[in-house]
Amino acid sequence: MSTARYLSILTCAASVVPLHLANAQTLLDADVDTVRIVASGQRFTPRQSVMPGGGPRHTADYDVAVTWDPAAWEAREEWVMHTIYPADTVLEFTMTYGETAGIKEGRNNYAAPGPSSAPMGAARIGVNFKDLWLTNPIILGAHADEILAPTPISWDGRPMHRRTLWAHDTEWTMIVDPGTGLPAQVITTEADPHTAQASIRVVFSSWREVSGVPFPFQVEQYVNGKLMRREIRSSIEVDPRDASIDVPDDLEDTDAAMRAWGWDRSTLLLARAGLGGPQDEPQISNVEFVEVGPDIYQVAGGSHHALAIIGPDGIAMVDAPWFPERSQVILEQLHARWPALPVRYIILTHHHIDHSGGFRSFIEAGATLVAHADTVPFFEQAVRLAGHPNTRSVSVSDSASLEGIGRRIEVFDITNPHATGYVAAYVPDTKLMFNADLFSPNRDRQFPPWLNGFLNSIRYHGIEVERHVGGHGAGYGPAPN
Ligand SMILES: [Zn+2]
Repeated sequence: MSTARYLSILTCAASVVPLHLANAQTLLDADVDTVRIVASGQRFTPRQSVMPGGGPRHTADYDVAVTWDPAAWEAREEWVMHTIYPADTVLEFTMTYGETAGIKEGRNNYAAPGPSSAPMGAARIGVNFKDLWLTNPIILGAHADEILAPTPISWDGRPMHRRTLWAHDTEWTMIVDPGTGLPAQVITTEADPHTAQASIRVVFSSWREVSGVPFPFQVEQYVNGKLMRREIRSSIEVDPRDASIDVPDDLEDTDAAMRAWGWDRSTLLLARAGLGGPQDEPQISNVEFVEVGPDIYQVAGGSHHALAIIGPDGIAMVDAPWFPERSQVILEQLHARWPALPVRYIILTHHHIDHSGGFRSFIEAGATLVAHADTVPFFEQAVRLAGHPNTRSVSVSDSASLEGIGRRIEVFDITNPHATGYVAAYVPDTKLMFNADLFSPNRDRQFPPWLNGFLNSIRYHGIEVERHVGGHGAGYGPAPN
């Protein structure tokens, strides 16, 4: 099919919309090898909001140039990311990757030194490819294995067509404007630590033709209705003169299951990379128990830590970093060490997904949720959305005392600018306190406003703390000077 014929279809009436998507394959086979997209945008993460369920946190502004060969599964991304939250940095990095392997050059992590050159993790390759398909709907449509017949629907009071596509073992729904034949939105679902499934919606506007192929020059992306990216494309070229991607051919193939794991969590992992702290592994092989007090362990080894408090009648866990997959391993190791002791409590310091994403595993194992009164409804809703029938909860307003493991634990409200609805857990018999993010013992990097709120709240409650343990930082340490 010629480009001219394709464009004439695009401008035709609604009845030929099926032709438009169905014939995109022919067009691309004939006319498009490589696309280069130059864009700037903003990243947000709803998972780091101040209030549980509140407005997304703006984490970075970025400039990016992507060269992509969709049929060959090869791409090169050149990034300059200005992170705002949690740290103010400029990260410059390039990712060059093929279907099974890739290389990252430069610095993409605010906490890690750079520049460096390292193989891309398997999950990151899945994430990046998913994102390219998700945000370029005509190319997605062109590579679909199957496009189902359109269903007329009303969207925001406008008549639209819903079309379901199967491409790359994934179901995608397009909301097509029958007037233009162009997809106004692409919708899909991905795995989500809190709620099991998240709804992903990408909204397209400012369509322009480039070498006869329509591209959206404005893109907004939402997860469960909350903004996570907005992007303006300043230039798009089809088959640019210098289209070389140059994936090194001596890279070791990555694990296909992990690439699929990333593909199914692209939005979650992109939001995390969009604050300059990529987190691309389920962290199931690095669970370590570090003794920080008598029968108290920091559950460490990964990027974020939990605490296990062992009592004569059971175990209390504080926090559940990132992924249910990691929590499952922690549960297995707890059972191996203390087979007679059930996990009676899962105490959650705050709602951020990096410290709470694995909490459902403990609820499903029978633990009682303990959290601030302002976050309990947020967590209970997540459990319901994930299909678990019920949650037993303890809501903490100012403080609460827990006796269920045969060893007293106190939980205190901590007022701070990092997150509202925040609690810290305290073991009086050892004068040990666990927090996440506000104070990280034995780590150089602290965030002074968060730390000040933490220390002020401890003074307010009149607690004597001899050992601080953190969701970040190593082991235990004294209060800072
Ligand atoms: Zn946090």
